[in-house]
Amino acid sequence: MTSQRTRDRLVMRLRDEGIRDRDVLDVMRNIPRHLFVDEALASRAYEDTALPIGYNQTISQPYIVAAMTELVIANRPAKILEVGTGSGYQAAVLSGLVDKIYTVERIAPLLTLARQRFRRLGLRNIRAIHSDGTVGWPDFAPYDAIIVTAGSEHIPDALLHQLAPNGRLIIPVGRRDRQRLTMVTRKGDAFEQEDLDPVTFVPLLRGQT
Ligand code: SAH
Repeated sequence: MTSQRTRDRLVMRLRDEGIRDRDVLDVMRNIPRHLFVDEALASRAYEDTALPIGYNQTISQPYIVAAMTELVIANRPAKILEVGTGSGYQAAVLSGLVDKIYTVERIAPLLTLARQRFRRLGLRNIRAIHSDGTVGWPDFAPYDAIIVTAGSEHIPDALLHQLAPNGRLIIPVGRRDRQRLTMVTRKGDAFEQEDLDPVTFVPLLRGQT
């Protein structure tokens, strides 16, 4: 149920659904998603669905992880910020594709678990902190790309300001039950916005717990 074969099958399905980037498919073939959910759910880890990870949060659906990863790595970023570490799965996928990942989570116990998974898998290029990601992570800015894995009514200004020139921000924008995946590209002092597919993410909340 958690074997390489089930992972291969998931990747074939992602390819059928339109994921083209071979590097993204290869990384997702290798990362054991079952280690990012509770043992009781491990047998469902290679279904293409979001799953609960406690604290009212979810690990995103593999298709969405793959699609957002394609968007994020398209302009070959070296340094990425993720807001919403959650299980750590998205960060682990990115870890195989870029030099350095910074990831921020507002729920402390989720961050602790994610860090244990990074250590267990030997993913040494991920730096994770317990903090409110709506203010970004100024210490290491600017970032070539920023990915927000929670839905927000507005695009936080701080994230725009932490983008490097030509950097892109991928963020689900909209109301609590439905958002639109949005891509913002920094062009000098201007920001170009493109609205992409409809998505449903858990909400981006301010503050930390
Ligand atoms: N990328 C995650 C998806 C997690 S769901 C994964 O691969 O599993 C979204 C996560 O965003 C939740 O863990 C939630 O606690 C977190 N979150 C919500 N608002 C946040 C904020 N302001 N700062 C940091 N994390 C936040």
